[in-house]
Amino acid sequence: MVRRVAILGGGTGGTVLANDLTDRLAAEIDAGDVEVTLINDDPDHVYKPVWLYVPFGQREPADGRRPLRELVDSRIDLAIDRVTEIDTDEKKLALRDAPGSLTYDYLVVATGSTLAPAEVPGLVEGAHDYYSESGALAFREELLSMTEGHLVLSVVGTPHMCPAAPLEFVFMADDWFRERGLREDVEITYTYPINRVHGNANIAEWARPLMDERDIDVETFFNAESVDPEAGTIASMEGTELDYDLLVGIPPHRGVDVVDEAGLGDRGWVDVDKRTLEAEAADGVYAIGDAATTGVPKAGSVAHYQAGVVARRIASEVRDRPATATYDGKTLCFIETGMDSASFVEFDYENPPSPAPASEKLHWSKLAYNESYWLTARGLL
Ligand SMILES: Cc1cc2nc3c(=O)[nH]c(=O)nc-3n(C[C@H](O)[C@H](O)[C@H](O)COP(=O)(O)OP(=O)(O)OC[C@H]3O[C@@H](n4cnc5c(N)ncnc54)[C@H](O)[C@@H]3O)c2cc1C
Repeated sequence: MVRRVAILGGGTGGTVLANDLTDRLAAEIDAGDVEVTLINDDPDHVYKPVWLYVPFGQREPADGRRPLRELVDSRIDLAIDRVTEIDTDEKKLALRDAPGSLTYDYLVVATGSTLAPAEVPGLVEGAHDYYSESGALAFREELLSMTEGHLVLSVVGTPHMCPAAPLEFVFMADDWFRERGLREDVEITYTYPINRVHGNANIAEWARPLMDERDIDVETFFNAESVDPEAGTIASMEGTELDYDLLVGIPPHRGVDVVDEAGLGDRGWVDVDKRTLEAEAADGVYAIGDAATTGVPKAGSVAHYQAGVVARRIASEVRDRPATATYDGKTLCFIETGMDSASFVEFDYENPPSPAPASEKLHWSKLAYNESYWLTARGLL
C-alpha cells in the first residue's frame, strides 16, 4: 500500500522537510511505496529575512526568491496550487485549481504567517512595513528620502515573525542616520505592547541599555489601537498618542483560514504538542514553523529544526517503527545591532537566551547565512 505524505506550504519549513524526508525515504519512494507531495501557492520559494535590508537599499525582494522546483528533490511531486480545504476525517485536501481531492496518510501544515494590518484602523493607510515585499519597497521610498522628523516603529501585533527584527530595524536605522550625519535631526521611537522591549525577558534586558545609549526612545505598554494618517498620529489602548513623520508598523499576524475551518486551531495557528509537533485535533497531522503553536518564536530557524524532527518521525512511522524524535525548542537567531555589527542567541525550552557581545564578525555571519540559505532549503546544510 502506498503511503502518501502531503506537505502544505513550500516556505522554509515545508521545503526543508520535503527534501529531508525524501532523502530519508529515497528507497521507498523509488520503489513506489511512498509519495511525497509539496503544495505551495507560489511557484517561487520566498526567503523573508532579506526584506530587513530592502528599506536601506541593500537588498532587492528578488534576492529572496527562487523557483521552488529548483530547490526540491526531483522525487517530490510539486503542486503549485492553493489548498482550500483540509478534511482530517477523510484525510484529503481540496485544491483551488486541481480537480478532485488529494488524499494523504500524513499531512504537515507549514502554511506560515500572513499579515492582517486591516485589524487596526488606519494602519494600512498610515503605516509602512518591511514584512512584505511590496511593503519593504514602498517603505524604502520614504526612508531613503527622510532627512529629519520622527521615525516611529510600532510593534502592533504579537506574535509576529522574527521577534528580533523590530529591534534590528531601529538599531540599523540609528546607525544609518548617524553615518549620514542626520541622527540629530531624526528622532527614533520604538513601541512595544508589554512592559519591556521584547517578549523574551533576557533579550529585552540586553536590548534596553543599547537603546538608551543610542537615544532610541521607548514606549512600552503601547498596544496600538488606531492610526490617524491625516493627523500623523498613532494612539494606544493605554491612552498614549505619538506624532510621527514616518511610521513603520509590525502588523498583526495570522495564519491561514483553512486551519480554523478544519478545526485544527485558531487564527490560522495549529494547536500542537510542543515536542512531537502532532496536531492536537487530528490524527496523522503535524504542523511546523510559524503555523505551529509551540510558544517559540516564529522564525526560520525554528521551522528548519522542526522540519528535521517531523521528517524523522514520519520516516519512522512509514517504516512501522515508533516515532521517537522530538523538538526541544531549539531557536537560533542573529540580531543586527547596527549596519555592521550583530549579536547572536541560541536557546531552547530549557535554556533561556543569553545574547552574545555584538561584533562585526557576527554581522558577517548573518549575511553569510543569508547567502547560504539556499543550500539550507535544499537540505544540504
Ligand atoms: C523581515 C523579516 C525578517 C526575518 N528574519 C529572520 C531571521 O533573521 N531569522 C529567522 O530565523 N527568521 C526570520 N524571519 C522569519 C521567517 O522568515 C519565518 O519564520 C519563516 O519563513 C517561517 O517558515 P514557514 O515555513 O513556517 O512559513 P513560510 O516560509 O512563510 O512559508 C509558508 C508557505 O506556505 C504557503 N501557503 C500558505 N497557505 C497556503 C495554502 N492554503 N495553499 C498552498 N500554499 C500555502 C505560502 O505561500 C508560503 O510559501 C523573518 C521574517 C521577516 C518578515
